[in-house]
Amino acid sequence: MNGFLIDLDGTLYRGHEPIPGAAAFLQWLQQEQLPYLLVTNNSSRTPDQVAEHLQALGMEVPAAAVYTSSQAAAQYLTEQRAGQRVHMIGEDGLRIALDAAGFALDETTPDYVVQGIDRSFTYGKLTEAVRHLKHGATYVLTNPDRMLPSDGGLMPGAGSLAAAITAASGVEPVVIGKPSPIIMAYAIERLGLPAADVWVIGDNVHTDIRGGAMAGCRTALVLTGVATPDNVHEQLASAGLTPDLVCTDLPQFIAQLNDCR
Ligand SMILES: [Mg+2]
Repeated sequence: MNGFLIDLDGTLYRGHEPIPGAAAFLQWLQQEQLPYLLVTNNSSRTPDQVAEHLQALGMEVPAAAVYTSSQAAAQYLTEQRAGQRVHMIGEDGLRIALDAAGFALDETTPDYVVQGIDRSFTYGKLTEAVRHLKHGATYVLTNPDRMLPSDGGLMPGAGSLAAAITAASGVEPVVIGKPSPIIMAYAIERLGLPAADVWVIGDNVHTDIRGGAMAGCRTALVLTGVATPDNVHEQLASAGLTPDLVCTDLPQFIAQLNDCR
């Protein structure tokens, strides 16, 4: 049996617009009872908030089928067993994931600085993070995305804030989100299938396809987000990657998958 790790933004929706065929694709997965997980680098939303957002766009998915880079960051910290005190720079998705995993926010002597996207980032927050890192806290970054698609064009992502923190502190973060093998391994483990039986589907060559390929999964690039029919050749050439399938959209993925069975 195949399992599926599916990206969200640019694959199921773009901002507040559902991508045509995405709802039908999820229904197909559910009807065929295929194991799947929606895996997102977006650290700002909780799984419940992601499920609500999908529902508003006409897609019914349980929150348990969502796995975020914030959850993966909390899972990573839990495995490190190097302390429970965390200095957080982020939003609801990260705060709630850390809280659920039993971590306490600590502004004085944290064991970790954990950072995701924070749309209220300030010079003061930068200064504090750098101070903790200089005192030996471990730096963990939910996701490396420097820019994000949004309704009004591109906006800076967690990776751009991390660039400032690294520039000031000299400390490189442990990166959790795609293409990091950390989130890929956790997501594959949740599906409970061997990596070779897992399809990674997404619109971003550098995160989805690279992460899937490095994890030993099969990969399908959809041309509905960062990758488009116009730029796909250039993007694949610059990344030096060849996905197993390149599909205009998710319905075409189902058709191509049936062809290669
Ligand atoms: Mg995407």
